[in-house]
Amino acid sequence: MASEAPGQLFLPDKSATIRAGFCLGQAILTLKLTTFLVAISGDLGAGKTTLCQGLGEAFKAPPGEVKSPTFALAHEHQGLVAFSHLDLYRLEDNPLTEFFEAGLEEFLGGLCLVEWPQRLPASFWPNPKLNLFLTQKGDGRILSGQDFGQDARNVWALFNETFVAGTRTCA
Ligand code: ADP
Ligand code: MG
Repeated sequence: MASEAPGQLFLPDKSATIRAGFCLGQAILTLKLTTFLVAISGDLGAGKTTLCQGLGEAFKAPPGEVKSPTFALAHEHQGLVAFSHLDLYRLEDNPLTEFFEAGLEEFLGGLCLVEWPQRLPASFWPNPKLNLFLTQKGDGRILSGQDFGQDARNVWALFNETFVAGTRTCA
């Protein structure tokens, strides 16, 4: 059953998006989630890759390594944890077939960040996952989520503690 929406956050600038990603990444590390999907929906320019850069900072990927995988479809990174970063934007014609032809399903067994998850049917995606949405608002962005399972609710709760309430350092 879908859980309640976790609320919306305003991210006034790029650094806020990076910090949001960083705090989400720290929450994922704290909870030791090694098989987990972060699905990030939003239009072109919504800040999806920027959020992944913040997650990559938390996971201690080599600085500057997390970049848009639009053309490669998938990048793999190794930091404190191994994680992959997918961008399904280019899967337009026959998305499910192209997804499997490119061998992308192998990444779903690990810690995986996905831009443009909406290219595939919602029912395709495994749980547990954190379903995030970025939308433009004025010069900034809104971050929101929906349909959280238990792990995702735990990540979001920790994230709120650090990013929103600021009860712990999340630089
Ligand atoms: P996407 O991957 O969704 O296409 P990007 O992460 O590449 O988007 O970001 C597109 C642009 O939006 C970049 O110039 C980035 O610096 C900017 N950006 C990211 N977050 C914000 C924000 N909260 N407010 C304003 N600009 C932002
Ligand atoms: Mg992108």
